[in-house]
Amino acid sequence: MVCLNVAVIHQIKSIRLLPVGRCDADIPYRLRAGIQQRLSIDCEIGDFIPRPLDAFDDDRLQYKATKVVERVQREPLDESNAILAIIDNDIYVEPYNFAFGYAELRDPVGVISLTRLRPEFWGDEPDKERFFQRAMVEALYQVGRLLGLSSCDDESCVMSAANGIGDVDKKQIDYCQSCRLGLGL
Ligand SMILES: [Zn+2]
Repeated sequence: MVCLNVAVIHQIKSIRLLPVGRCDADIPYRLRAGIQQRLSIDCEIGDFIPRPLDAFDDDRLQYKATKVVERVQREPLDESNAILAIIDNDIYVEPYNFAFGYAELRDPVGVISLTRLRPEFWGDEPDKERFFQRAMVEALYQVGRLLGLSSCDDESCVMSAANGIGDVDKKQIDYCQSCRLGLGL
């Protein structure tokens, strides 16, 4: 079951990919290509902004996703635009231990964290292609949220909710037929 807010879809004409702190230089470009390949919206890459120091939790050694998004929401944003922030630090959303990403639909701004998408974070061999595929999955999930999709029951769909890295790896790098219909594709 896909719940869709059509009004949100028509408001967003373009997505800006915005690194928060430095990340792998090729990641924004590859994500832009993947997003544009699957969605009929413009996608641009913004200059990186510094990590917001007040978002860092000294006890958890993680960045609070809602505060990262609050900082990004201060960036100039046309009415028809949305921002997907990319941060290469661990993030969390209460009450969970960590988050792969987070989206605030009101403005709308989302964020993905690259840290836990690296195979080596989980004790596996480094694999740049696998890392990129996971980043693409999470970027498409958060962009889907910004466009008005909610989580999908099809665990192979990119809009399936992921509670662990195993869930991320079950997803194909695309929207299922139902979600594609919801997006008007
Ligand atoms: Zn779906």
